[in-house]
Amino acid sequence: MHWSKTLIPTLRDIPQEAEIPSHQLMLRAGLIRKLSGGLYTFLPLGLRALRRVERIVREEMDRAGAIEVLMPALHPREIWDQSGRYEVLRDVMFRMRDRQDREMVLGPTHEEIVTDLVAHQINSYRQLPKTIYQIQTKFRDEIRPRFGLMRAKEFIMKDAYSFDADWEGVEQSYQAMYNAYTRIFERCGLRVKVVEADTGAMGGSSSHEFMVLADSGEDGLVECTGCAYAANLERAERMPPANESKGDPAPLCEVKTPHRRTVEEVAAFLHVRPEEMIKTLIYLCEEQPVAVLVPGNRELNEHKLARALEGRPIRMADEETVVKTTGAPLGFAGPAGLRIPVYADQELKTLRQHVAGANRADAHVIHLNLARDASVTAFFDLATAREGDMCPRCGASMREKRGIEVGHVFKLGTKYSERFQAQYLDAEGRRQTMIMGCYGIGVTRTLQAIIEQSHDEQGIVWPATVAPYAASLLVLNTEHAESLIVAEQLASALSACGLETLLDDRDERPGVKFKDADLIGLPLRIVVSERSLAEKKVEIKRRQEQAKTLIPVAEAVDYVRRMLS
Ligand SMILES: [Zn+2]
Repeated sequence: MHWSKTLIPTLRDIPQEAEIPSHQLMLRAGLIRKLSGGLYTFLPLGLRALRRVERIVREEMDRAGAIEVLMPALHPREIWDQSGRYEVLRDVMFRMRDRQDREMVLGPTHEEIVTDLVAHQINSYRQLPKTIYQIQTKFRDEIRPRFGLMRAKEFIMKDAYSFDADWEGVEQSYQAMYNAYTRIFERCGLRVKVVEADTGAMGGSSSHEFMVLADSGEDGLVECTGCAYAANLERAERMPPANESKGDPAPLCEVKTPHRRTVEEVAAFLHVRPEEMIKTLIYLCEEQPVAVLVPGNRELNEHKLARALEGRPIRMADEETVVKTTGAPLGFAGPAGLRIPVYADQELKTLRQHVAGANRADAHVIHLNLARDASVTAFFDLATAREGDMCPRCGASMREKRGIEVGHVFKLGTKYSERFQAQYLDAEGRRQTMIMGCYGIGVTRTLQAIIEQSHDEQGIVWPATVAPYAASLLVLNTEHAESLIVAEQLASALSACGLETLLDDRDERPGVKFKDADLIGLPLRIVVSERSLAEKKVEIKRRQEQAKTLIPVAEAVDYVRRMLS
């Protein structure tokens, strides 16, 4: 491709709207342009790289035996009512009406559509297992689209769904996708960390996320320094501290804490450490108030609370409920004397003395002994894990990291197959429900994650497997006829070997061409100049290395092929 004939609008300056390096570079290198918040056009360079990522995804899906289909992006509302997810996802779905005044939505995901399809098309154990996938545009009405393709309103996903006759089969389908994902990200040149994940709104029994480690990542995770345990923060467990504190605590005692409501305010006022305090939160579980206790220096993890309460719906109580339940204004709730279920973080078991709200305005209690002064319904791991916590598997210290989620695999079970009656007849002719798994890769997000992980101060450093072209071919002086002829011949010869180049034939200064070549970051840079041609040579350099080599023109094609193989 000739630069002068395509559309690569590079930018010198960092666009203000872009906060993270990959987003800045996608704009600066002319890969994408914004239409409006969370909506982007792919320009030729961006599209070529995207197609290469898609191709890797498709090849690995096919290799794993998955079947490609293409489902509609536009769905009638009823199919979402049938699964019960219309209400769950209504805020993230784009909703509209057709001319018959029928409500339609743009699909944020496709469990409903594919399960409906399979329910009608598969009916015998002989047709199972099946894994069905598509590479398709999804829509989500993000509250805050940001970071370019990382959190967009419209994005491309590869979503796959497996249907099995039994749990053993699901295990195999899941493993096949897990392995395919590992290969996909490896082929894309990404270093990923696989973490245990929460199943959340998808339902299901177990799941893993594929995370690209990056400081700019929106997702938190912890990894063990002693074993392979790693989990995202929604999921991550922690081993409780072992030692119970000794000594007989003094009797419970109420103290005045006028206008001190927060942990920090009370801790400073009473000269105690935040971890000696108990944070008491009032929640509604199935609309009934419950108290949730975590150490003063910890955050409650609502995902863990939801799991501890076996998935019953929970939400934070409103002020009125808190006042009615505790008899005190906000900020003075405590476990002593509460007549509602009390769920406490496991860490609170080990400390005997605590400071907590007194359930009275402007008062707290000290010397609180949970076992003596309150009735705790159950202890669970409820606080969000963090740096330095002990690994739930081996007890070693855990590290906290940031990551970009690029892939997610779930064992879904029968949640959707039951709703849509995706059933099959077994060998004995009995009707059975299929067991499902679902598997997603954010294709556009993966593309950006590659750049987030692979760039330097000058620009993108594409892994050869996904680079939009194999090499930049720079003609330093386009007035010099021989330079142009040699460059054209090299481009054709490389193209004949399957290596497409980007021939920079613009009427620009060499400095501009060198800067742009670094910015767009193709794996190799080949420079054709009057000076090198005087020796019948061209100069070749890898993007990420400083060393340049002068190679005889006649040997250049072989040399490039060797460098890229
Ligand atoms: Zn461990």
